[in-house]
This record gives sequence, structure tokens and C-alpha cells, in this order.
Amino acid sequence: MSIKYICCKCNKKYDPKTLVFRCDCGGLLDIDEFDFSFSKKDILSNEWSLFRYLKALPFDNNSNSWKDITMGEGLTPIVPLDKAYPNILVKVDYLMPTLSFKDRGAVILISKAKEMGIRKVIQDSSGNAGNSIAAYASRAGIDCDIYVPEGTSSKKIRQISSHGAKVHIVKGTREDTAIEALNAVENGEGFYASHVYNPFFYQGTKTYAYEIYEQLNGKIPESVVIPVGNGTLLLGCYYGFKELFNLKLIEKIPKIIAVQAERCSPIYNAFKEGKDFVSETTNTGTLAEGIAIAKPMRGKQILEAVRITKGKIITAPESKINQTREYLAKKGFYVEPTTAATFAGFLDYFNEKNHNLSGKVIIPLCGAGLKKD
Ligand SMILES: *Cc1c(COP(=O)(O)O)cnc(C)c1O
Ligand SMILES: [Zn+2]
Repeated sequence: MSIKYICCKCNKKYDPKTLVFRCDCGGLLDIDEFDFSFSKKDILSNEWSLFRYLKALPFDNNSNSWKDITMGEGLTPIVPLDKAYPNILVKVDYLMPTLSFKDRGAVILISKAKEMGIRKVIQDSSGNAGNSIAAYASRAGIDCDIYVPEGTSSKKIRQISSHGAKVHIVKGTREDTAIEALNAVENGEGFYASHVYNPFFYQGTKTYAYEIYEQLNGKIPESVVIPVGNGTLLLGCYYGFKELFNLKLIEKIPKIIAVQAERCSPIYNAFKEGKDFVSETTNTGTLAEGIAIAKPMRGKQILEAVRITKGKIITAPESKINQTREYLAKKGFYVEPTTAATFAGFLDYFNEKNHNLSGKVIIPLCGAGLKKD
């Protein structure tokens, strides 16, 4: 199967092997639609990783680059959080090799890089994405450079470098860090394994939807709540459900309820104002670091996905993040503040604003608490 990139603005197509990371016109690249058939019987039921959905993934059916790279990621449990609310289910997506959902995207991106013969990847992130790319690159025997902003905690830097990645500490902001990484990519130093730019990442996060389909026996929830910063889980989840719908395996696409941080909410602002593009905002400081993205590159696509599903964008009240983290811990789940924020946003919407839930809702627990102080 020959997979092509396609520009989201001008539809120009590229071969991923060219190492291009954005279109000549400046547009972001998506994966051009590729033909595949998939139904329940195509699930590889003896493959205990997200490669059980190989038929729906951008690999040849006889491709095996992934076999030495997978760490059994995926297949995360879906369980009720609290018996008082049987309609609220959590998907424990921090039960992953590097303790966040980013492993879904990273394992697909790195396996694809290996298949294409890539020797070195470059990425910028100080958080879970950098950690995940570093781990999988190491496992694949691919060199890895991760750019992080100065001020990144030494714990995070240790985590990344323990996987053998080279950490570049960049003076300035998160945006300056991205520019440095982009410069290195433009100089031909490596393949840009960015969770924001590289569309193979989203081919991995789409397995979130495939798992829900399989685990709930096709009974898709009314809504899914998804944290959104750059939108890697949100867009992946949307692509996955859209594919399942087009394959006639599900009857409807769930409403996507996206959660932003109250103090950094550019996509929420655009949604509220009825705009179809996102303007950069200022991050005024939040505990929900993992979703505090002031300039989300895929903002327009995120707005579209939420609107098509008749979903909503809500914000997480900053003052409730810590108490929600404690509540989740009382229910047995020790999560990072960004994950508590996602939940705080949902609870606020559900309880105080009195929105009745008509059906089931699934909320992911995206990041483990142990990584954070
Ligand atoms: C990355 C991450 C998010 C946000 O994902 P985006 O792709 O930026 O929308 C939320 N929670 C956790 C724990 C994460 O690691
Ligand atoms: Zn273009």
C-alpha cells in the first residue's frame, strides 16, 4: 500500500519518504485517504496491542516493522468510575508503556519511520509526547533528538535521555523550541516526528475509537469527552469513528465534548465566537500544562470535527483541578493534573450547568500521576 501525504489547504500530494513535513504552500499535511476494508472479523484477536487493527492502519498487511517495536500498547480498560453514575465510563489510557496515550501515536509513527528506513527523528516536546517518541525510537534503533524549552524539569529531561535520546535545551518559549526543531529538520538532520505536524501520529490515536468499538461490542457511547491542546487524541478519535461509520460498523459518531484549560483556551474562544479558525491566545498559567497550547496548529480541523459531531467545547475551572485530582485518587486513579482538569471540566458542565446526559459518556484518563510532582 502506498501511503501519500495530502496538503490540507491545496490538496498537493507528497511521498512521505521525501521527509517533507509541510506543504510548499505552508499547509499542514494529512494522510491521503487509503483504501482498506475492515470489519469485526479482521481484528487480529491474538495480537495484544493496537496492531490488532492492522488492517485499518497505514501498513501493508504483510508489513512487519512494527513487530519488534510494539510494547503491547493499547487495549486499555473501560470501566465505570463511580457506581453512582453508571453512564460515566473512564478509559484508562495511562496504562501504556510510557504512561500516557501518546504511545498510540508514537508506536505507529516510529514503526512507519522504521519501514521507510529513517535513521534519525527530531521532535519538540517537554511532555509525554517527547517521552513516548524517545522510548519507541530507542526500541526501533532510530536516533532521536528532542528539543525542550529551558526550565523543563530535570525529571522530564532524565526520562527522555534515559531512552538514549539527545536532549537540546532551547532558550526562550515553547514556540522558540519548535522553531529550533524545525530548523534542524529543514537542515535535513532527520525526520520530523512531531505529534502536531506528522500525520502518522493520528493514525495511531485513531485506535482509541477502534478499541471503544471493539470493547463495547459496537454500542458506541452518546458522547466522548476529550482533552484538547494540539488535538492529537481528538482528531485521531474523530478519524477513527468516521472510518467506522463509513464502513457501516457503527450507526452514529459520538458527540465530541472537548475540554480546554480555562487559562489557555484558544479553541474554546473560537468555538464560542462561531469562528472557523483559531487565533493565538496567551497562556496565563495553568496546572493543566498538557493542554495549555496557545497556538494550536490544527485548530481549524479541531473546530470542524467538534461541529460535525454536534459536540461542544468547554473549559476546565482552574480552581477545581486539585480537588478533582483528589476525587479521582479516591476512586483509585492517580492521574496527572491535566487529566484531572479534563474531568473537572466535564463535571462542571455536567453538574453545575445541569446538562443532562442522555446516554453513556467515555472520558479518558490520559496521563499517570506518578510522572508529575
Ligand atoms: C498530550 C496530552 C494531552 C493533550 O493532547 P493534545 O494532543 O495536545 O490535544 C492531554 N493529556 C495528556 C496527559 C497528554 O499527555
Ligand atoms: Zn499546500
